[in-house]
Amino acid sequence: MSDHILRITRAADNEHDAEYEIVCPYKHPGAPCTVWWECEDCKELPTNPRNELQNQLDRDGVSQVHDLPHQMIGDMICQQGDTCIVLTGHTDYDFDPDDLPAGDHPVVYETEEMCTYITLPKVRQS
Ligand SMILES: [Zn+2]
Ligand SMILES: [Zn+2]
Repeated sequence: MSDHILRITRAADNEHDAEYEIVCPYKHPGAPCTVWWECEDCKELPTNPRNELQNQLDRDGVSQVHDLPHQMIGDMICQQGDTCIVLTGHTDYDFDPDDLPAGDHPVVYETEEMCTYITLPKVRQS
Protein backbone atom coordinates (compact mmCIF):
# COMPACT_ATOMS: atom_id res chain seq x y z
CA MET A 1 0.00 0.00 0.00
CA SER A 2 1.57 3.24 -1.04
CA ASP A 3 -1.35 5.61 -0.59
CA HIS A 4 -0.23 7.12 2.65
CA ILE A 5 1.65 10.37 2.72
CA LEU A 6 4.52 11.36 4.93
CA ARG A 7 4.15 15.11 5.33
CA ILE A 8 7.31 16.89 6.32
CA THR A 9 7.42 20.44 7.50
CA ARG A 10 10.29 22.51 8.74
CA ALA A 11 10.25 25.71 10.65
CA ALA A 12 12.97 27.02 8.32
CA ASP A 13 14.54 25.68 5.12
CA ASN A 14 17.98 25.40 6.64
CA GLU A 15 16.74 23.58 9.72
CA HIS A 16 17.65 19.92 9.85
CA ASP A 17 15.07 18.60 12.27
CA ALA A 18 11.80 17.96 10.52
CA GLU A 19 8.31 17.85 11.90
CA TYR A 20 6.50 14.98 10.27
CA GLU A 21 3.17 13.27 10.28
CA ILE A 22 1.51 10.52 8.32
CA VAL A 23 -1.56 11.53 6.36
CA CYS A 24 -4.17 8.83 5.75
CA PRO A 25 -6.19 9.41 2.58
CA TYR A 26 -9.04 7.10 3.56
CA LYS A 27 -12.27 7.45 5.42
CA HIS A 28 -12.71 4.95 8.22
CA PRO A 29 -14.14 2.43 8.80
CA GLY A 30 -14.05 0.41 5.59
CA ALA A 31 -10.62 1.54 4.43
CA PRO A 32 -8.00 -1.08 3.53
CA CYS A 33 -5.77 0.19 6.34
CA THR A 34 -8.41 -0.11 9.06
CA VAL A 35 -7.24 -1.65 12.26
CA TRP A 36 -8.96 -4.89 13.38
CA TRP A 37 -9.26 -5.70 17.07
CA GLU A 38 -10.06 -8.94 18.77
CA CYS A 39 -13.77 -8.66 19.56
CA GLU A 40 -14.29 -8.77 23.32
CA ASP A 41 -17.97 -9.69 22.93
CA CYS A 42 -17.39 -12.62 20.60
CA LYS A 43 -14.44 -13.77 22.69
CA GLU A 44 -16.80 -14.22 25.64
CA LEU A 45 -19.27 -16.38 23.72
CA PRO A 46 -19.78 -19.92 25.02
CA THR A 47 -17.71 -22.51 23.16
CA ASN A 48 -20.37 -23.80 20.80
CA PRO A 49 -21.68 -20.54 19.37
CA ARG A 50 -18.10 -19.28 19.19
CA ASN A 51 -17.00 -22.30 17.16
CA GLU A 52 -19.99 -21.87 14.88
CA LEU A 53 -19.13 -18.22 14.38
CA GLN A 54 -15.49 -19.09 13.69
CA ASN A 55 -16.52 -21.65 11.09
CA GLN A 56 -18.84 -19.12 9.47
CA LEU A 57 -16.12 -16.45 9.33
CA ASP A 58 -13.57 -18.94 8.02
CA ARG A 59 -16.01 -19.86 5.29
CA ASP A 60 -17.44 -16.45 4.40
CA GLY A 61 -14.63 -14.05 5.22
CA VAL A 62 -15.77 -10.64 6.45
CA SER A 63 -19.32 -10.82 7.82
CA GLN A 64 -21.62 -8.62 9.87
CA VAL A 65 -21.89 -9.82 13.47
CA HIS A 66 -23.84 -7.74 16.02
CA ASP A 67 -23.89 -4.96 13.39
CA LEU A 68 -20.12 -4.78 12.93
CA PRO A 69 -17.87 -6.32 10.29
CA HIS A 70 -15.94 -9.30 11.67
CA GLN A 71 -13.31 -11.61 10.29
CA MET A 72 -10.89 -14.24 11.54
CA ILE A 73 -7.31 -13.08 11.94
CA GLY A 74 -5.19 -16.03 12.94
CA ASP A 75 -7.42 -17.77 15.47
CA MET A 76 -8.92 -14.55 16.81
CA ILE A 77 -12.41 -13.31 16.02
CA CYS A 78 -11.77 -9.68 15.16
CA GLN A 79 -14.04 -6.74 14.61
CA GLN A 80 -13.32 -3.76 12.48
CA GLY A 81 -12.14 -0.66 14.30
CA ASP A 82 -12.62 2.85 13.06
CA THR A 83 -9.06 4.06 12.75
CA CYS A 84 -6.07 3.72 10.45
CA ILE A 85 -3.49 1.16 11.52
CA VAL A 86 -0.67 3.38 10.30
CA LEU A 87 -1.83 6.14 12.64
CA THR A 88 -2.73 3.88 15.54
CA GLY A 89 -0.05 1.26 15.94
CA HIS A 90 3.57 1.53 16.79
CA THR A 91 5.39 2.89 13.75
CA ASP A 92 8.96 2.31 12.64
CA TYR A 93 10.71 4.12 9.82
CA ASP A 94 13.48 2.43 7.89
CA PHE A 95 14.86 5.81 6.88
CA ASP A 96 15.47 9.08 8.63
CA PRO A 97 12.61 11.52 7.96
CA ASP A 98 15.00 14.32 8.86
CA ASP A 99 16.88 13.60 5.62
CA LEU A 100 13.90 14.32 3.40
CA PRO A 101 13.01 17.69 1.95
CA ALA A 102 9.87 19.39 3.24
CA GLY A 103 6.70 18.41 1.43
CA ASP A 104 4.56 15.32 0.84
CA HIS A 105 6.21 11.97 0.24
CA PRO A 106 4.25 8.85 -0.68
CA VAL A 107 5.25 6.00 1.58
CA VAL A 108 4.71 2.27 1.68
CA TYR A 109 3.68 0.54 4.85
CA GLU A 110 3.67 -3.02 6.02
CA THR A 111 2.08 -4.21 9.19
CA GLU A 112 3.03 -7.08 11.38
CA GLU A 113 1.02 -7.65 14.52
CA MET A 114 0.42 -4.12 15.76
CA CYS A 115 3.66 -2.71 14.42
CA THR A 116 3.78 -0.73 11.18
CA TYR A 117 6.90 -0.39 9.09
CA ILE A 118 7.17 2.67 6.88
CA THR A 119 9.46 2.62 3.87
CA LEU A 120 9.94 4.86 0.88
CA PRO A 121 8.80 3.26 -2.37
CA LYS A 122 11.83 4.48 -4.30
CA VAL A 123 15.47 3.70 -3.73
CA ARG A 124 16.28 5.69 -0.69
CA GLN A 125 19.05 8.21 -0.61
CA SER A 126 21.60 7.77 2.12
ZN1 LIG B 1 -18.09 -9.49 17.96
ZN1 LIG C 1 -4.70 4.74 6.63
